[in-house]
Amino acid sequence: MAVPSIVCKNMTKREMKSGRALAVLVGGVFFLAVMSLYRMLDLMQGAEPQLSRDWSGERFDQDLSRLRNKIDGLEQLLISNNRMVATLRDSLRIHKQGGVNKSIGSSHVRKESLPGCQLAEQKERSAGVQLLDVYDLLPFDNPDGGAWKQGFQITYQGNEWAEQPLELFLVPHSHNDPGWLKTFDGYYQDQTRHILNNMLLKLGEDSRRKMIWAEISYFSKWWNEIDEQKRMMVKRLVEAGQLEMVTGGWVMADEANSHYFALLDQLMEGHQWLQRHLGLKPSSGWAIDPFGHSPSMTYLLKGAGLRNMVIQRIHYAVKKHFAQKKTLEFLWRQSWDSSHSSDITCHMMPFYSYDVPHTCGPNPAVCCQFDFYRLPGGRTSCPWRIPPQPITEKNVKERAHVLLDQYRQKSRLFRIPVLLVPLGDDFRYVESGEWDAQFNNYQKLFDYFDQHPELHIKARFGTLSDYFSALHRRLSATETSLPTLSGDFFTYADRDDHYWSGYYTSRPFYKRLDRALESTLRATEILFSLTLAEMRRFHGDLVVGFPAREHFQRLVEGRRNLGLFQHHDGITGTGRDPVVVDYGTRLFHAILHLRQVQQSSAHWLLLLDKNQYHHDQSKPFLQTDDVISAQDALPQKTPLVLSDEPRVLIVYNPTEQRRSSVISVVVSSPDARVVDSETAQPMPVQISAVWVEPQQVSSQAFQLSFVAELPPLSLTVYHVTKAPAGSTPRSTYVIHRHGNRPSIASQHFQLSRLEAAEAQTHLSLSNKHLQIWSSPETGLLQKLRLSSGLVRRVQVKFLWYGTTTNRDKSGAYLFLPGQGGAQPYSSEPPLVRVSRGPIFSDITSCFQHVTHTVRLFHLEGHSGKSIEISNMVDIRAETNRELVMRLESDVASSNRFYTDLNGFQMQQRRTLKKLPLQANFYPMSSSSFLQDSLSRLTLLSAQSQAAASLQSGELEVILDRRLQQDDNRGLGQGVTDNKLTGSLYHLLLEDRRAVQEVGGATIDHLSLLAHLESLSLCHPPIIMFAQSDIQLPKLRPFLPLHSSLPCDVHLLNLRTLEAEEETGAPSQEVALLLHRKGFECSSAPEPPPQCTWSAHEEVNLDDLFSPLQFRSIRRSGLTLLRDHDEPTSARQQQPPRLAKLGPMEIAAFRAVLD
Ligand SMILES: [Zn+2]
Repeated sequence: MAVPSIVCKNMTKREMKSGRALAVLVGGVFFLAVMSLYRMLDLMQGAEPQLSRDWSGERFDQDLSRLRNKIDGLEQLLISNNRMVATLRDSLRIHKQGGVNKSIGSSHVRKESLPGCQLAEQKERSAGVQLLDVYDLLPFDNPDGGAWKQGFQITYQGNEWAEQPLELFLVPHSHNDPGWLKTFDGYYQDQTRHILNNMLLKLGEDSRRKMIWAEISYFSKWWNEIDEQKRMMVKRLVEAGQLEMVTGGWVMADEANSHYFALLDQLMEGHQWLQRHLGLKPSSGWAIDPFGHSPSMTYLLKGAGLRNMVIQRIHYAVKKHFAQKKTLEFLWRQSWDSSHSSDITCHMMPFYSYDVPHTCGPNPAVCCQFDFYRLPGGRTSCPWRIPPQPITEKNVKERAHVLLDQYRQKSRLFRIPVLLVPLGDDFRYVESGEWDAQFNNYQKLFDYFDQHPELHIKARFGTLSDYFSALHRRLSATETSLPTLSGDFFTYADRDDHYWSGYYTSRPFYKRLDRALESTLRATEILFSLTLAEMRRFHGDLVVGFPAREHFQRLVEGRRNLGLFQHHDGITGTGRDPVVVDYGTRLFHAILHLRQVQQSSAHWLLLLDKNQYHHDQSKPFLQTDDVISAQDALPQKTPLVLSDEPRVLIVYNPTEQRRSSVISVVVSSPDARVVDSETAQPMPVQISAVWVEPQQVSSQAFQLSFVAELPPLSLTVYHVTKAPAGSTPRSTYVIHRHGNRPSIASQHFQLSRLEAAEAQTHLSLSNKHLQIWSSPETGLLQKLRLSSGLVRRVQVKFLWYGTTTNRDKSGAYLFLPGQGGAQPYSSEPPLVRVSRGPIFSDITSCFQHVTHTVRLFHLEGHSGKSIEISNMVDIRAETNRELVMRLESDVASSNRFYTDLNGFQMQQRRTLKKLPLQANFYPMSSSSFLQDSLSRLTLLSAQSQAAASLQSGELEVILDRRLQQDDNRGLGQGVTDNKLTGSLYHLLLEDRRAVQEVGGATIDHLSLLAHLESLSLCHPPIIMFAQSDIQLPKLRPFLPLHSSLPCDVHLLNLRTLEAEEETGAPSQEVALLLHRKGFECSSAPEPPPQCTWSAHEEVNLDDLFSPLQFRSIRRSGLTLLRDHDEPTSARQQQPPRLAKLGPMEIAAFRAVLD
C-alpha cells in the first residue's frame, strides 16, 4: 500500500528526534514500572485481613481466601511485569525503526501486511483504575455494615464544612418505565400524563422548584396531546432552568443486551426530537435503573455532547469500595482510548437504590422519614416503621438536624462538599397533593438551613446541570481532579449472591427478534436514502407517485419501536406477559412496514424505464421470500412456484462489503436453474430436502441454494427457472440413530444409513479451509482442523441448569442455579442427519429439546472459514430449567475470556472462584472468544445472551430459560411464555502461532476476519421476488458503489433526516454514520479479503462512496444536533475532504448526497 509523502516527512522528523525520544520513553516507562510495582505491593498489603478479631470456625476459610488473595495478587504482579516488559520491548523496537508507521521487524511479518491493526494496538494502555483489578482485589465477603447494611459506619467531626459550606442539590425526578407491569400506553394513560400535566402547574407555582425528565418516548407522546399554550409553558420552564431534560434518549436503555446501533439510534431519536421541539441539547446523563452499566453507552453519550452522567445499579461491593476510596465520582475512560477525548464525568450513587430511603444518606430508616409522599394516611408507608412527619414550626429544628446528619454522612463519601440528593421513585408526582407534600415540606427545611448559617449548608432544589456546574466550579477552584476509571459494571448484584445475570437471556425469542428488526431497519434506512438521492439525481426531485412521506413515517415508526424495546424492561425480558406481547407486536409491525419500504424502493431502483413505476401497496411488485404471521411466530419461507418462465429474484446486500453469500429459497421443483440476469451466467446451485419432521421429507417443497456474488449495497437480479429432471445437484443424506435404525423414504433424495463400521468412527465434513469431526452417536462437534495444520478439540455439549432449593430462586432478573452447577443433557440418542452437497454440507442432531445444526460452506473466500451453528430450542414442557450450549476445547485460556459490550468493543473477563457461579456470567451481544498462544476460538452470535467460561477452554451460552416463580424484584411473575426459539452463530478458529504473546493485555479486539464474519452474520442478504402473474418490466441491477468500503470501516447507518420545514417528511439531508473498527493483528486473513485498509487515522470522504458524491458534508456530534456541527468543517467543503477517524471511533456526518 502506498504511503502518502506527508507521512514520510513526518517520520524523517521523528527519526531526527529519536535519540531524545528514546531517553524520555525509556525513562518514562521505567518510572511507570517502579510506580506500579509500588502500587501492587500496596494493594497486597491492603488485602491482608486484620487478625485482631476472633475468627473461630471461619478461620480455615479465611486462611484459604487469604492464600487465594495472595495468589491473585502475585498473579497480578506477574501480569503487570509482563506488560511492562512488553511495553519496554515495543518502545525499543519502535525506536530502532525510527517511528511507529514504518514496517516492523521480521518477527511481526504478518503485522506488516496489516498496517491498520497497528493503530489499534499502539494505543498505550489507558491509565487509572481498571475495574478488572478492583474485582481481583475485593474479597466479596458481604459483612453487615450496620445502618448502611452493605457499607460501613461513616463518621465526621462537624467542623468539616466550616471553611467550605456544604452545597446541596435536591433533584426531583420521576422514573417512568416505558413498559414493565403495564404497557407503554397503559402507564401513559394511568400515570405519566398526569405527572407531566401536574409538572406544568406545580413548577409554575414557585420558581425555586425543579424537575428532571429522561424518557422522550413519553414526553413526545404527551407533547402531541397538549395545546400551544402548554407547550409555551414547557419552553419557559426549560429556559428558566426549572425543567431539565436528562440523557434525552427515547428510553433509559438497557446496557447489557442492546447493540450499539440501537443504543445510538434511540439516543438520536430523542435528541432529534428535543432539538426540533424544544431547541435544546442534553448535557447530563441519568441512568438510575439499567441493571449494570457499559462504557459503550458512555462513549455514545460523550459523542452526543454530554459532559456528565449519573449511574446507579452497581454491585454493592464495588460501591462500597468506591465509597471508601472516595472515587464515586470519576472520569470514565474507554479502555482503548489513550487520547482521553472520550472521558466523561460520572457520578455513581452510593447506596442500594434510587428511591428516597436510599438517597438522602446511609440510613434508610431515617431517609424514609423525608419521603413526604409516605406521610401517614397515604398509599405508601415506610417499611422501617418510622413514618415521616409534616414539617411544622415546632419540629423543624429537630427534623432539620436529623436530615442534616444524613446529608453530612453522605457528603463524607465524596471529595468535594457538593451533594447530589435525588428525590423521587418510580412513577412519582402523579397527584398534585404529592407535589405539595414534597416541595412544601422540603422548602421549610431549606428555609431553616438558610436561617442558620452556623450549620454551613446551602440546600435547594436543583437539576443535574445545577449539581454538575457546582461540582466542576468547586473542583477547579480547589484544583482537585477526579480519578479515572476504565472497564464496565457487569455483573450487577444488589444483595447477597443475587446476581442479575438471568436477564442476559430471559425471553430469548424477543432478543432475537430485536436483532432482526435492527438489521431490517438499518438495511431499509440505507436503501431508502439511496433511493431518494437517485431520484433527485435523475429527476431533480422526488418521483411523483413514490410514497416518500409514508415510507419516511414507516422508518420513524421502525426507529421508535426499536428504540422503545431498548428500554431496561424491554430487551431485558423483564416485563409482564401482556407487556412482552405489546413489545413483540411493535417489533413485528415495524418489520412488516419496513419491508414495504424496501420493496417499493427496490422496485423503483431496479426499473430500467422509471416511467413504469407505480405504487400499489395492496399489490406490491416485489415481496419478501418469507412470511412472519404473528409477533410470536418464526419466519416461514414462501415456496416459489417454478416454470419455464423465469421468476425474478432480487438479492439486496445491505453491507458495505462485496461478499459471496449462499442464498436459499424454497421452490416447487427438485430441479432449478439460477442465472444472473445481466451476464446470463448460470450460478452454482444445490437442491436440499425440506424437512417437515425429523423423519419426514417434504415431497412438494425443496430448498434451492446458490452462491451469489454481491457487490456492496447492491440489488442483484437473478432469474430462476425449472430445470430438466435430474439436472440439478442434490444433497445426499446419511441418517443415523444410535441403537434404533430410522426408516425414512424420499423419492427425490439419496438417503443412506450409516454402516456399522462407520458408526464406530467420527463423522467428518471438510472444505478447503477446515475439517470438522463429530460424534456418530450425537452428531455433535468434537474436533476442528485448519488448513494450516492446527488441530483443536472443540466439543459441543448441551446441559441443564436448575434452580436452587433455597427460598430465593431464579427468575426473570436473577440466575440462582444453586449448588452443583449444570447437569449433562441426557435424552434418547438423537436422530443424526449428515447432508453433503456442492455448496454446503451439514450435520443436524435432532434432540428432544433442541435441533442443532453445524454447517460448512464450500466457498472460496473468507466465508468458508467459519462454521455456522444453529439451534432451534423448545423447552416449553420443562419446569425451572435453563438449557445451555457449551463448547469444551483444549485452548489453554486459563480463567480469561472475552465478551463484547454492545457489539462495540471487547472486554476481558476473569472467571473468579471467589464469586458464585452466576456472577461469572456476562452479557454477550455479538461475540466472545478464548485464546492461548496457539489459537483463538471466537463465537460470533446473531443475538444477545448470557455467556461464561467456567473452566479453562470452555465457553457456554444459555439458550433459553423457563422459570416458574417471581424473583422478588417487582415483576410479580416468572418467565413461562417460552416459544420455539432460534439462535445462530459462527464459530471461528484462528491460528496465532506466528504471534508474539504479550501477556495480560486487557484490551483485545476481534480479528479482521471475525469482524467481517460478524458483519455477514448480523446483516444477512435480503431476498425478494417479483409477483409471477404480472407482465415483467425490464430490470437492471443497482450497483451504487464501485468498490467495498475499507475492511475496517463499517457503514453504521445512512439515515434520512426529517425536513425542518415539514414535520413527518424526509429532508435532503442524511446522517452518515461510520464506525472504524479496532482489530487485532494476530491472525491475518489469508487470502487477504477483497477490501483494503489504511494505516492512517483518516478517511477520504470523496472516495469512500464513489461514484456517489456528497454535495455537502459536515461532521457533527453522534446524534446530529446542529450546534454540534464542527465549525472547521465548513473549510472542508472542497475536495479532497478528509475526516479523521481513528480505530474504534464512530463519526457522524450531516450530508447531502449528489
Ligand atoms: Zn425502570
